[in-house]
Amino acid sequence: MSFAPLLQPLDLGFTTLKNRIMMGSMHSRMELLDRPYERLAAFYGERAKGGAGLIVTGGYSPNDSGVIESGAPVFDNEGELPKHRLVTDSVHAEGGKILMQLLHTGRNAKIPQPVGASDIPSRINPCTPHILSSDEIEQIITDFAHSAVLAKKAGYDGVEVMASEGYLLNQMLVTRTNNRSDQWGGSYENRMRMPLEIVRRIKAAVGNDFILMYRISAIDLVEDGATGAEIIELAQALEEAGVTLFNTGIGWHEARIPTIAYMVPRGAWRFAIRELSAAVSIPVIASNRINTPEVANDIVASGDAAMVSMARPMLADPHFANKVAEGRAEEINTCIGCNQACLDFIFSNRVTSCLVNPKAARELEFAENIQVKGAPKKVAIIGAGPAGLSAACTAGEAGHAVTLFDASSEIGGQLNLAKTVPDKTEFYEFIRYFKSHLDKYGVEVRLNTTVDASSLGDNFDEVIVATGIVPRIPEIDGIDHPSVISYLDLLSGKATTGKRVAILGAGGIGFDVAVLLTHGKSTGAPDTEAFLKKWGVDTTMASAGSLAAGGPQFPAPAHEITMLQRKPKSLGRGLGLTSGWVLRAELDAAGVKMVPGASYHKIDDAGLHYSINGEDQLLEVDSIVLCTGQDSNNRLYQELNSAGIKCQLIGGASEAKELDALAAVSQGMAVASSL
Ligand code: FAD
Ligand code: NAP
Ligand code: SF4
Repeated sequence: MSFAPLLQPLDLGFTTLKNRIMMGSMHSRMELLDRPYERLAAFYGERAKGGAGLIVTGGYSPNDSGVIESGAPVFDNEGELPKHRLVTDSVHAEGGKILMQLLHTGRNAKIPQPVGASDIPSRINPCTPHILSSDEIEQIITDFAHSAVLAKKAGYDGVEVMASEGYLLNQMLVTRTNNRSDQWGGSYENRMRMPLEIVRRIKAAVGNDFILMYRISAIDLVEDGATGAEIIELAQALEEAGVTLFNTGIGWHEARIPTIAYMVPRGAWRFAIRELSAAVSIPVIASNRINTPEVANDIVASGDAAMVSMARPMLADPHFANKVAEGRAEEINTCIGCNQACLDFIFSNRVTSCLVNPKAARELEFAENIQVKGAPKKVAIIGAGPAGLSAACTAGEAGHAVTLFDASSEIGGQLNLAKTVPDKTEFYEFIRYFKSHLDKYGVEVRLNTTVDASSLGDNFDEVIVATGIVPRIPEIDGIDHPSVISYLDLLSGKATTGKRVAILGAGGIGFDVAVLLTHGKSTGAPDTEAFLKKWGVDTTMASAGSLAAGGPQFPAPAHEITMLQRKPKSLGRGLGLTSGWVLRAELDAAGVKMVPGASYHKIDDAGLHYSINGEDQLLEVDSIVLCTGQDSNNRLYQELNSAGIKCQLIGGASEAKELDALAAVSQGMAVASSL
């Protein structure tokens, strides 16, 4: 396939971007690490080396009131310049270009006293904002222009004014958050005044040879948000005021519609970007759930946008652009939209990383601490789940002669079950990535081969056991009743359920099984039209916030489901912060009943007998699916040890409790790096 549209340069008049691939802004929390700016420089430098046409930093506030949270970075004085020089020099040394994002969070700031257009608190930050006075608004405008001047001095190629996702400049625009009656509120002209003034003042301060990108909310997805016509009116006025190019944001952070998690189909928001592109004459950049070169290329080739922004995909693979340019698209490590190690880490006060690429944001650590030791070795790896695959690819890349065994007929381990869950088809990409690297590094793969101590032989210098897990079978009277099936048999197609189903266990797998029983098995890539209808998006964008009049339209569920767990807490607490709410909302809409605090007593022809607070209950169901956790499958490890064969144990085989693909991949990489 030709990726010529995606790879063509973008001429901005005074400067040219080398291709249409931008690494979008992400907060990284790298400021929390030691040597933060050296790490940021290595992080962005690696993405510039990987060929990204443009990079945008995480958000820097122009003053103390606009920070994301206490201690978050502010860019307001000359003392900041030397450390930013490390970043800009690193990117320029690799032939890249980088913008600083200027962000004022307004009422979303997690600080004792946030500020806002009006005193209307946010759904995601209950603190009532202080109403900005006219003088304070003027000061913020001045601060934006001052920060832009500093950014130019620090060597940045431009700034991105962050004005989407429901941050301050977005808050000024709509009556949802702005009920002022002075020159900053009331008419739309007044509500647009602050963003327009910021653009004019920045332009006047930095001149015409500095990129001024404006991140506009292409669709708000909140009640009393902007209409499509208002967004276009704003965009045209901003173009007139001097914006060089538009980046786009999709939905406010407080929107109740998923915008980037894995259940959002790739390129789902193109319709909104297309409207904007058609209404302005400067380049527009598409964003959100664009993760493959095919989708990115199609967006540019069709004219829906001039360029694409990929933020998480650049965590997953810093060399995305070069791989496209060099005809190695098959080798791209694709972002699977899981949010597990990027957004979920950030929201739980951890430095960002990536499930499919644990090196992300740890470039110095990996470069300095994990070195391949000594001469090439013969390495046996047993188990081709994510732990074994990651170990095999890392060891193969280091030059070792690797043989990878798996009992099954395909690589992937439990990822092959995960990919059958509706909306989780992105796991196919992770398996494809591993496959391409096994081939690239000449790993010998022996499938349909169950290894035991006698068959392995003593031909290997190193043995790594990654034999995964076995599903846990709880001790309940009647557990071998014909109505009981394990998630393994259900997902692998060996068993089916009746109409009324009890799911025992409400971890990630319990929720995935509930989603599968609600919607049916995945039959291919998610359908954009069905997704937008399900979540109540008005694709005409005529309504405020582009919310459909009838609200969400969830399809009728295929089963009557009850989920149970023993813990007395609400179900789903352990799910990812940024995707768990979507699953809970979907299951709620499907009428799934959630039962915490259950004690299981017996299973028989009548159904499941259990009690809550000592009170006996009977759940009349046709089928009971066990999602009751997993135990390590370390039988081979014990056998090998008994036979005197030295080996290392990783992944679920080592510790099944709370082990997910993220931990499995990281462990595989770490053990192989230490060989
Ligand atoms: P496994 O994936 O279990 O692989 C072990 C491999 O070893 C298997 O292929 C097996 O055939 C092979 N094997 C075992 N014994 C032998 C032997 N003697 N000889 C040869 N081969 C052998 N995690 C996440 O982080 N995010 C998710 O969204 C997610 N979703 C999931 C959804 C479902 C439905 C399921 C079931 C799991 C999901 N997980 C998810 C969990 C994740 O898949 C596991 O944590 C991960 O696969 C564990 O990796 P592993 O390599 O340790 O073991
Ligand atoms: P899990 O999250 O540990 O959940 C196991 C469930 O089984 C819990 O609800 C637990 O609740 C119950 N349970 C445990 N022991 C039991 C017993 N003896 N009898 C009855 N119930 C029991 O594990 P999982 O759902 O099997 O998932 C495995 C791994 O894959 C996890 O690390 C998970 O994070 C990962 N995963 C992640 C995702 C994702 O989307 N991020 C999706 C799927 C899987 P009670 O003890 O309260 O009953
Ligand atoms: Fe993408 Fe998941 Fe990596 Fe985040 S953690 S960048 S969503 S693959």
